[in-house]
Amino acid sequence: MSSIVPLRTFVSAFSALLDQTGDEAQILEKGGALLADLVAEDSWLPELLAQPDPDRYQQFLLHADSGGRFSIVSFVWGPGQSTPIHDHTVWGLIGMLRGAEYSQGFRREADGELVPDGEAILLKPGQVEAVSPTIGDIHRVYNAYPDQVSVSIHVYGANIGAVRRSVYREDGTIAEFISGYSNDWIPNIWNESKP
Ligand code: FE
Repeated sequence: MSSIVPLRTFVSAFSALLDQTGDEAQILEKGGALLADLVAEDSWLPELLAQPDPDRYQQFLLHADSGGRFSIVSFVWGPGQSTPIHDHTVWGLIGMLRGAEYSQGFRREADGELVPDGEAILLKPGQVEAVSPTIGDIHRVYNAYPDQVSVSIHVYGANIGAVRRSVYREDGTIAEFISGYSNDWIPNIWNESKP
């Protein structure tokens, strides 16, 4: 039987970090280390929040800070699934739990044209990557596997499912979107009577 305790420990530690600092570089460095610890262990994510959908990648909310300072989401990639090119507008940390994914960064030229920013980064289990408007905020993410499910755990500096952001289409147009979440219920991490 899996234990939710690692997620509760992570929520408490991340909350304590944000009590200490609002500095983005500090949050990405120290919070990234906390996330690396969380994804080093693949036993705690409830099965219902690791289920792929045949039509599109899933974004399951695992926790939202009551002050809106951060949210934690499990991204579940069915075989070959990918996001559109999109931004976040807030800092984000991505930790690989199962399988693998590629993140291709993009930057905008002065004339507004979007060009790939270096090679796609391959993220493997236990590895962590960061995005933000300061260090590079536009990317496309896709499952590295055409025949298996991949799962990554993301932490963002806002209630990300409610943030107004942008997708960048092939034809150069930009569309506003609010991602929402795939789930209506979140896991109970607060039952401290359970091991
Ligand atoms: Fe993203």
